[in-house]
Amino acid sequence: MSFKVKGKVIGSGELAVIEMEKGFIQTVHNTLGGSERITGPDDLWLAPTFFDIQVNGFAGVDLNSGRTTPDELEQVIMKLREKGVVLFCPTIITNSFEHMAACFRAIAQACRNTKIAKAIPALHMEGPYISPQEGPRGAHPLQHIRTPSWDEFQRFQECAEGLIGMLTLAPEGDGAIPLIEKLVDSGIAVAIGHTAAGRKEIQAAISAGAKCSTHLGNGSHALIPRHDNYIWEQLASDELWASFIVDGHHLPPSVVKCLIRAKGISRSILTSDAIAAAGMPPGKYRLGDTEVVVSPELKVERADTAGSGYLAGSALDLLRGVENVVRFTGVSLEEAIRMASSNPAALMGIPERLGKIEAGREANLILFQWDEQTKCLSLKYTIHAGEVVYKS
Ligand SMILES: [Zn+2]
Repeated sequence: MSFKVKGKVIGSGELAVIEMEKGFIQTVHNTLGGSERITGPDDLWLAPTFFDIQVNGFAGVDLNSGRTTPDELEQVIMKLREKGVVLFCPTIITNSFEHMAACFRAIAQACRNTKIAKAIPALHMEGPYISPQEGPRGAHPLQHIRTPSWDEFQRFQECAEGLIGMLTLAPEGDGAIPLIEKLVDSGIAVAIGHTAAGRKEIQAAISAGAKCSTHLGNGSHALIPRHDNYIWEQLASDELWASFIVDGHHLPPSVVKCLIRAKGISRSILTSDAIAAAGMPPGKYRLGDTEVVVSPELKVERADTAGSGYLAGSALDLLRGVENVVRFTGVSLEEAIRMASSNPAALMGIPERLGKIEAGREANLILFQWDEQTKCLSLKYTIHAGEVVYKS
């Protein structure tokens, strides 16, 4: 059965009627001719939905518990839809082999349900092949950080039933470069992150096929050499996409502005790096083996080092990330949405699922009001594969 929605298409600003059937956009009709535009506070905007490539948990569900149930995963999916996110990568972080394997198994089993699977294009494995140094390791438990192993990765991939599609590692680890080559050959998007690498190691990783920097500017030392450092080196490497956590805590607004201007809108990706506490009130929560505290300002810190400035994931969602990036950097709403939708889809090799609003595309759309004064986005509808999955 087909149905239609009407809204101003983000970018062009033209009023359009979108007809959807069987999960796809059938037709896009401009109801007003030529370049005529409409304005007015009652008009809804139409844009692609969001895709979050790094979600450790959400709405009280810890995806790193090792026993995530299908019901819990459905709860995460439903809560993310309230934020305009219909696609996401559950992210499993550094832990023992047994624990990470259990996490992958639990989520892969839940993904046998096609309704869950259609929200999860891939799993993101962050660690355990990262820097053990304080700062770069972030909240990843030191005792479980280890050297890169193709053999171990393959065992994880087996547990994940082939769903691991992204891996974040530090390229300076022993054997990291040959591992990157093998991962890239098997279709995994390799990202550099939680690293203390020098220029040579970063460039070697890029030559081996690494194509992204994970939450650039975070998972780093409190103090680094001002010129020769891994942040500039990755920022200047046009081959690399970069993801950013724009919650106002991980990076100050001025840094977000500079980093995104330098990386360019076309290579920047917004991510939440959300933990279970995201979408929940302030308090104490768990991130894998680590206890974390969420402050009233939604700053997430390790309980044992609270106040040190080292953060442990975020309580952000991409809807607020989009608002923040407009506020902090002066990019247009359309550009901000691109960083949360078509850019991550392109990185993850599924450009057909998110991006342009045109006939033949999977119907993944949000309808919302936008307040230009306050830069607030009020979500009204989320549509996933041609089905209204959230209505405010
Ligand atoms: Zn991280």
